[in-house]
Amino acid sequence: MPTWLVTGGAGFIGGNFVLEAVRQGIRVVNLDVLTYAGNLDTLKSIQGDANHVFVQGDIGDAGLVESLLSEHRPDAVINFAAESHVDRSIDGPAAFVQTNVVGTLALLEKVRDYWKTLSGAASDTFRFLHVSTDEVYGTLGETGKFTEQTPFAPNSPYSASKAASDHLVRAFHHTYGLPVLTTNCSNNYGPYQFPEKLIPLVIAKALAGESLPVYGDGRNVRDWLFVTDHCAAIRRVLEAGRIGETYNVGGDAERENIVVVKTICKLLDERNPLADGRSRETLIKFVPDRPGHDRRYAIDASKLHSELGWYPTVTFEQGMAQTVEWYLQNQPWVSRVLDGSYRLERIGQA
Ligand code: NAD
Repeated sequence: MPTWLVTGGAGFIGGNFVLEAVRQGIRVVNLDVLTYAGNLDTLKSIQGDANHVFVQGDIGDAGLVESLLSEHRPDAVINFAAESHVDRSIDGPAAFVQTNVVGTLALLEKVRDYWKTLSGAASDTFRFLHVSTDEVYGTLGETGKFTEQTPFAPNSPYSASKAASDHLVRAFHHTYGLPVLTTNCSNNYGPYQFPEKLIPLVIAKALAGESLPVYGDGRNVRDWLFVTDHCAAIRRVLEAGRIGETYNVGGDAERENIVVVKTICKLLDERNPLADGRSRETLIKFVPDRPGHDRRYAIDASKLHSELGWYPTVTFEQGMAQTVEWYLQNQPWVSRVLDGSYRLERIGQA
C-alpha cells in the first residue's frame, strides 16, 4: 500500500479524502496547521489508526515539510491545504496569498527536492496533485461551460490566490519536470463542511429557525458536486491522469442558490418541522450581494469522463438528502463548531 502526504486533511474535502484513504489501508501523513477550518473531530473515527499520522504544521514551513518527506518517503503528495472561503478573502486577502501562494510555493520547492532524490520506479510513479477550484476561470454568462482551455480570470482574492498557485504548479512541471496534476472542481457539499459555506450554513440556521441570508437575487448559479465524488475524481486523476495535465471536475448539477436554499427548507420541513408549522421558506431573507460575486459557474468535465472514465455517482437530489440527514445525525459535530469547542483539541495538541 502506498504512503501519501496529504495537506489540509483536517478540512472539509481533505478530511473526507483522508477518511476514505485510511479506511482502504493507504498510509496517510496528514499535515494541517489547523486554522479555524481544520477540525480534528472530523478525523475521530481514524484516531489511533496506525495508517494515519497527523502532524500539526504549515505547508509553508520548509524545514517541517522537508523532514516529513525524508522520514515518510511518500509516493504522492496531495495538496488540499488552503484558505478557502471567498467572504474571508474579501475581508483579509493577505492570509490567502500567504497560504495559497507563498505556502504552495514552499511546498513545491521541498517536494521537487525530494522527488529528485528518488530513483527508478519511485521517481517514475511519484505525483504531486494540486486540488483547485473552477473559480479560477471567473464567471460565465447564461450559457457555456468552463473547459481546461478557458483562460483564467479570477474575480475574488480567493480565486486569484488559487489561480496563482495553479500557475506555480504548472511552472514546476515545465521548469523542473516535477510530475504534477491539477484538478479544478466546482462547488462541493456533504458531511463535515464548515458551517460558513452556503449549504451547511443554511442547514444550521434553518434548524434553529433563524433567518436564511441569500445574496442578491439568489439567482447566482453554481455547479454542485457531492464531496465523495470529488474525492473519487482526485483518486482517479492520481492513479491515471497524464502528468502536467489539468482536469475539470463537476457534477453536471447547476442550480441557482435560491433553489439550493429552498431544497434544504423542504427537506428539513419534512424531517424536522418547525414547532409552529411554518414553512422554512418564510425564513429566507435576501441580503446585499457579495462584491465581485460571480454570476454563474458551469463545468465541462468531458476530459475526465473520456480519458479517465470518472463520472459523478450521487445526484444533486440524493446528495442534498444525504447531507441534510448527516447534519441531523451529527449535531454534536456541528454544535462543537458553532460553540468553538472543536478548537480546544487543537490547543490541547499544541
Ligand atoms: P477547508 O477550508 O475546509 O480546509 C482547508 C484545510 O487546510 C483546513 O483544515 C486548514 O486548517 C488547512 N490549512 C489552511 N492553511 C494551511 C497551511 N498554511 N498549512 C497547512 N494546512 C493549512 O477547505 P476545503 O473546502 O476542504 O477545500 C480544500 C481544497 O479544495 C482547497 O484547496 C480549495 O481551494 C479546494 N476546493 C474547494 C472547493 C469547495 O467547494 N469547498 C471546490 C473546489 C476546490
